[in-house]
Amino acid sequence: MMGDRTYLDHAATTPLDPRVLEAMSPYYRDRHGNPSSTHFYGQVAEAAVDEARLTISEILDCDPMEIIFTSCGSESDNLALRGAALAERERREANHVLISSIEHPAVDKTARQLAELFGFELEFLPVDEFGTVQPEVLEDHIRSDTAVVSIMYASNEVGTINPIPELGAICRQRGVRFHTDAVQAASQLPVRVDELRVDLLSLGAHKFYGPKGMGALYIRRGTALFPVQTGGAQEFGLRAGTLNVPYIVGMAAALKITHDQRDAWNSHYLPLRDELLRTIPSAVPSVRVTGHPSHRLPNHASFTFQHVDGNELVTALDLEGFACSSGSACKTGDPKPSPSLQAMGFSNDWALGSLRVTVGRSTTQAEVRGLIHALPPVISRLRGDDVR
Ligand SMILES: *Cc1c(COP(=O)(O)O)cnc(C)c1O
Repeated sequence: MMGDRTYLDHAATTPLDPRVLEAMSPYYRDRHGNPSSTHFYGQVAEAAVDEARLTISEILDCDPMEIIFTSCGSESDNLALRGAALAERERREANHVLISSIEHPAVDKTARQLAELFGFELEFLPVDEFGTVQPEVLEDHIRSDTAVVSIMYASNEVGTINPIPELGAICRQRGVRFHTDAVQAASQLPVRVDELRVDLLSLGAHKFYGPKGMGALYIRRGTALFPVQTGGAQEFGLRAGTLNVPYIVGMAAALKITHDQRDAWNSHYLPLRDELLRTIPSAVPSVRVTGHPSHRLPNHASFTFQHVDGNELVTALDLEGFACSSGSACKTGDPKPSPSLQAMGFSNDWALGSLRVTVGRSTTQAEVRGLIHALPPVISRLRGDDVR
């Protein structure tokens, strides 16, 4: 269908697993009831939601009542951060919000709005050159009036995995709520919430071969949250709106498949990722691997090319048939360096040229080698090397 094209952007989204589509399908047909209804149709739908909640809770190693379904990973981040910040201010006058300096916009923009509109004091935790938040750094910044700390489990942009259990232990010791955005990580890393020592954890189904527009938030029992979306009493009063039964069923099926076959998928990704990380730096001049060299997501390779515009690079690779992405945003021809790479200490002539290559379940070695082969001439063309 897509011809000779190669999809290497699995951090942006993944295709729906056919088994997930199959699991969802009856809930679009005869099992169409509203889980809030008390009649037979409602009970069938409610049973499906209960089972999905149980499946997810078993994988997270928590109580089913600690899982809230949302409309996406972004909404989970919004509910976690805004909900916890407002509740903690009400509960104990905590007015300080701490997030890492390379969070996804769903966390970053929410925290900025908490500062601008709600009067919270927002502070950014510095990251090291690999994009890691070091526990000592959190120790230095956390305060008794910190309402919530949010640090991503693994970076969507550079793939780096944060030491979440250590960071969580620091928050717990101070009695501060700890949220992690696990939307990118859950496709490859275990998400057992007790081991991670988190109070709040966000998931998004389309990053692990589930449906787009579906998310969940883990909320540790006893963690007070103000609802962001008010209305009916669905989701224990924390998230109003008729439940999206087919998507909920699909999310649980997708997470179960991901969890059951995690080791096998990761062993498929690792050699492909490592070939990218090893080969590209020696095939092109003035390139650096971004993110941690080893403590990174198994499917995630990221680079930055000096004096290259990442958006032009993505466009040029697309013309060659490769779908990748860049952390450097572009607004009407005005290239913007990646804020994450800037926070990691890259100067602007480097931070403009980011490239992310993320492999998936169907990625082959031939596809990866195809990209490695196509990349050097594209880079030298964009740098104007062949112009004399
Ligand atoms: C994709 C992503 C999100 C947003 O999830 P959506 O379901 O697309 O809203 C948030 N955080 C991270 C780290 C992500 O990778």
